[in-house]
Amino acid sequence: MSRETPGLLPGALHGLMMDRPLLVVPLLQYAAQFHSDTEVVTRSVEGPIHRTTYAELYRRTQRLANALIALGIKPGDRVATLAWNTWRHMELYFAVAGIGAICHTINPRLSGEQMRYIIDHAEDRLLFFDLTFADAVAENCKGSPSLLHRIALTDNAHRPNHPGLSDVVTYEELIGQHSDTFDWPEFDENTAASLCYTSGTTGNPKGVLYSHRALVLHSFACCLTSTMGLSTDDRVLPVVPMFHVNAWGVPYAGPMSGAALVMPGRDLDGPNLFRLMDDEAVTCSQGVPTVWMGLLTTMREKGRKPKSLQRVLVGGAAASEMLIDAYELEFGIQVNHAWGMTEMSPLGVVNTLKPKFQKKPRAEQMRQKLKQGRVVYGVEMRIVDEAGTPLARDGQTPGNLQVRGPWIAKSYFKAGTSALTPDGWFDTGDIATLDADGYMHITDRAKDVIKSGGEWISSVDLENAALGHPQIAHAAVIGIPHPKWQERPLLICVARGTAKPSLEEVNAFLATKVPKWWLPEAIAFVDAIPLGATGKIQKSKLRTQFKDFKAG
Ligand code: ADP
Repeated sequence: MSRETPGLLPGALHGLMMDRPLLVVPLLQYAAQFHSDTEVVTRSVEGPIHRTTYAELYRRTQRLANALIALGIKPGDRVATLAWNTWRHMELYFAVAGIGAICHTINPRLSGEQMRYIIDHAEDRLLFFDLTFADAVAENCKGSPSLLHRIALTDNAHRPNHPGLSDVVTYEELIGQHSDTFDWPEFDENTAASLCYTSGTTGNPKGVLYSHRALVLHSFACCLTSTMGLSTDDRVLPVVPMFHVNAWGVPYAGPMSGAALVMPGRDLDGPNLFRLMDDEAVTCSQGVPTVWMGLLTTMREKGRKPKSLQRVLVGGAAASEMLIDAYELEFGIQVNHAWGMTEMSPLGVVNTLKPKFQKKPRAEQMRQKLKQGRVVYGVEMRIVDEAGTPLARDGQTPGNLQVRGPWIAKSYFKAGTSALTPDGWFDTGDIATLDADGYMHITDRAKDVIKSGGEWISSVDLENAALGHPQIAHAAVIGIPHPKWQERPLLICVARGTAKPSLEEVNAFLATKVPKWWLPEAIAFVDAIPLGATGKIQKSKLRTQFKDFKAG
């Protein structure tokens, strides 16, 4: 680990700058002081629109910090949340971390068993939950030895009336009795601030423990114009939930930039998002492709976009050509493709076009836009072969994608061992190409890549190309065994209407977009593609479902 904290070179001098720690509470203090009347608007879980300002949110955060201390929460304790994007969840982010404790955001889409596993693994002391999750809490979050209290994120008028929750206090009751001033401690910036478990598609979920320093540096990265470009001109709506990698950093970068926040609460469907964006003059938003497909349907029905929406960030899964074209050409909304992971806080690359591509014909621009993006300063990136030897950055050669940087995990919570390669890189499990302009293109998850005759076929690219077919609503590609080629692609689709296109029809369409030898061996139709807790296709389920599938 010595490579992370190198000492001074012989003869070198220490700089004479203040050694102020990078902590998260000052982000909110800054917004409360200099953007005091900037709004944080929420469509509350109880129903009505709730409006507050950074100044008021900060006052309530101090009440909450006092309440946490009164409940006996100590530095290092884990405080869990099972909650949507709301102003109360923001208060938890800052108050918990601000007293030196750790805000553990639980993904409510996990199974009851996984939820119990991570609460016990994290040894959560408190659990704050939204009313939507009252049943899940009553069923799955009882009898955990570490849990002292369960708190409903609401007021007394909405206290959950559930027989299994008679011991629950409400959030407003809890913080109402406390002072709205708090003397924040200062501590080492490497202190843990929040905890998020990976989705656990293989084995148990693993805990990623973010430090204050990592979150603050990551916020600077989020505000760059070549990434999310957040500023005081923005009203930002993070659709990506606060339980999914810190809502991609927006709850921290919003206060840092002075942007107004519009929190969507629990309803993330097209019509609800459209209405909220329209009413609240939202300028930019972040979410996974399925969310943008939902909003697209609503925009097409209404024949317009939400009036102020200028740009959307698409990440978590690959953005398709169809999606980018529809947003940009039909509605004039800029699409920025992005990639990251839980272990990376999550930002790794964001796609903005360099000037030389902006002058090119649309088809050439699109080739570049479909790449996940350009590496963000602060993240180092390389591709390597199986032996760990770095590969060419030629935009052609695929390799194992590895990263390192100050907001990238080096180990998992309680794992006790390093998660890094012997030379200090984190292997993402993705296969990618890098080009000379710094753009990275994910071709697959290492475990999903289709190995055909010694070459690799990108299931991601095939899926995206298939989504351009007018009769295909959703697509997933997996490898099926082949006597000659080892593996060949099987295209699994949800049809858009009642008619199901034949393999020949689909392949004739795909042949204009991908190399001939990539064309699917077979096509199968299903009612729905299984999605995991963070909206990704669950290929392991599909592989089990289609394990006896025979082509032709
Ligand atoms: P998140 O979903 O926020 O990106 P996860 O840790 O849940 O974080 O998942 C990370 C994985 O998701 C990546 O390793 C990659 O396989 C996939 N992924 C994320 N963004 C993209 C993207 N834009 N295109 C393709 N795959 C992506």
